[in-house]
Amino acid sequence: MSPTVLISIDDAELSSSLLMELGKFDDITVCLPQDSNAGDAQMAVCWHPDQALLDKFPQIQCLHSAAAGVDHLGQSLLASGLPVARIVDPDQKQGMLEYVLWCVLNHHRDFDRTVKNQAQQRWHLYPQLPANEVRVGVMGLGEIGAHVATGLAQFGYSVSGWSRRPKQLERVSTFSGPSEFTGFLEQVDVLVNLLPLNQATQGILNHSLFQALPKGACLVNTGRGGHLVEADLISALETGWLRSAVLDVFTAEPLPADHPLWTTEGVIVTPHMASSSSAAMIAHQVHHNVLRFIKDQPLLNTIDRTLGY
Ligand code: NDP
Repeated sequence: MSPTVLISIDDAELSSSLLMELGKFDDITVCLPQDSNAGDAQMAVCWHPDQALLDKFPQIQCLHSAAAGVDHLGQSLLASGLPVARIVDPDQKQGMLEYVLWCVLNHHRDFDRTVKNQAQQRWHLYPQLPANEVRVGVMGLGEIGAHVATGLAQFGYSVSGWSRRPKQLERVSTFSGPSEFTGFLEQVDVLVNLLPLNQATQGILNHSLFQALPKGACLVNTGRGGHLVEADLISALETGWLRSAVLDVFTAEPLPADHPLWTTEGVIVTPHMASSSSAAMIAHQVHHNVLRFIKDQPLLNTIDRTLGY
């Protein structure tokens, strides 16, 4: 019998695209929870999955995130003891670099201020700084963060990065652990968050972090909404401590229509679009991993469940 993959995804479009892409492989079977063969599945591919998934389908032996992050699996699935794999996608890394580069240019070349000036028919030139005088700090130097940091450095920016363990990256000054966090923040004009969301990083973008940044800094949050204490950000912008924030991820998505971040001066809201993997890429990696699983080979791109990433 061919290995069976169950799709548990709360996004109808992604679910049907994955059903189609996984269905192209003739050496696996793909099903939805309502299908009669769902009880045969060894692997579940998940995005905000049913939290009772393992009660309903206790035969599932491994979980595959349909994304780079795994926080959306939720505590009960992450604590289940099953191996968890995730997506690592070169196109997604490059897409994130493009998004962050736009955010950095927006700040560096004063496009944010210039767009505001246009609304008042104000003709004003800002002094043009060379890229190496703009200091960009990347929180999280994993698959995506390391690509973003080195890409920005190649573009000429003065880049630093912060991770849990010490790292060496070409043309990037690196900081690690809690003891080096403030030193990292103090020398950053544009702070980019690319951490995974877990117990250690929940709420890390808060008042004390903003105070450690130089006045006039810009925040780019492309990690997760749960990293940000929204009220602290609004206050840091209203007092003028921070100049701007580009936010791609939110605690509630879609961002509710009456949410104050839509209209806070200095905030750019984007709809969790910084970078995504194609359904074909997700299906390719899930297919590869389910075949490895039935051959008793270790899954690729697994997380350490004790660390939450
Ligand atoms: P990785 O797991 O590859 O890297 C995580 C990085 O964060 C590592 O460098 C790790 O340090 C560091 N880190 C983790 N915990 C801590 C901590 N407590 N203190 C300091 N550093 C820490 O993740 P990816 O690069 O693949 O993805 C990062 C996140 O980006 C995803 O989890 C997701 O939330 C977000 N994302 C957002 C997208 C969007 O469209 N907005 C798209 C894709 C991803 P170390 O290297 O020492 O282990």
